[in-house]
Amino acid sequence: MKIGFIGLGNMGAPMAANLAAAGHEVWGFDQVDVTVPGVSITPSARDAAKQADVVITMLPNGEILRSVAHDVLPVMQPGASFLDCSTVDVDSSRAVADLASQSALLALDAPVSGGITGAAAGTLTFMVGGPMKAVERVRPLFDIMGQKAVHCGDAGAGQAAKICNNMILGATMIATCEAFALADKLDLDRQKMYDVVSTSSGYSWSMNAYCPAPGVGPQSPAENGYQPGFAAELMLKDLQLSQHAAQTVNADTPMGALARDLYARFVEEEDGRGRDFSAMLPRFEARNRS
Ligand code: NAD
Repeated sequence: MKIGFIGLGNMGAPMAANLAAAGHEVWGFDQVDVTVPGVSITPSARDAAKQADVVITMLPNGEILRSVAHDVLPVMQPGASFLDCSTVDVDSSRAVADLASQSALLALDAPVSGGITGAAAGTLTFMVGGPMKAVERVRPLFDIMGQKAVHCGDAGAGQAAKICNNMILGATMIATCEAFALADKLDLDRQKMYDVVSTSSGYSWSMNAYCPAPGVGPQSPAENGYQPGFAAELMLKDLQLSQHAAQTVNADTPMGALARDLYARFVEEEDGRGRDFSAMLPRFEARNRS
């Protein structure tokens, strides 16, 4: 396939490289200078998009996605597909899907889980919203970039799944960190705490796969001085998206709101910016010492 890839950052660059390595013809564009193995860099987003069978975007937020979509949709080939893999608000995804259908193009929202390592290894999970016909068309690309693609429903359903997942993740990471900090105060050994909780009803991905306590459980950013991994500010962004969505549909999400507030304080007033989102643990330790 001919692929246009717009947004070649931490996630987009390895995803595009994997597509090129699998034999697809990939033209890429980013607003900053980049080099990506196997990808021909173009001078504009339009140049990357105009010959493509599929245009993929991996961008920071909904506003940028809307502006890129306005720019490239008019020059895309009739019948081509627009596949947005960024994490953005549901409204922006639906607006872009509407715009694409007006130009007789197929659009999908397909945010991912799996982070930078999953992008490099081609083991991402895609949560997909949009027409089944488009999903089938781009499935070979999902198979290269990821290990699983779940069709969640119509336009915006992929983003809905992503922000619900990350709302759970934010809340369980905070709960795991505050429990470790409480265990410290109760003189409970961290390894014993992990051994019990990881095989008991308090287990979660945050505890079992991404343990915030250094030296306990599998390898995680905690062993690396809490260098991200998944940055606290990206978690804050996703929690803000979930609360925006909850407000839009009048859903009651008190745990999500509290998680958003705690990550906002961590990033904006404490030392969370630039640290992994599991650095909530040293934050609780510091508060418990003061
Ligand atoms: P990033 O900041 O590394 O990459 C975004 C890229 O988009 C940058 O290179 C930037 O220059 C480019 N860009 C911005 N505006 C542009 C424009 N108008 N035209 C062309 N390029 C433009 O971010 P990332 O970590 O690669 O994340 C991308 C998306 O994936 C985000 O929506 C993020 O929430 C989501 N995501 C990230 C992770 C992660 O672990 N990093 C995990 C899952 C999902």
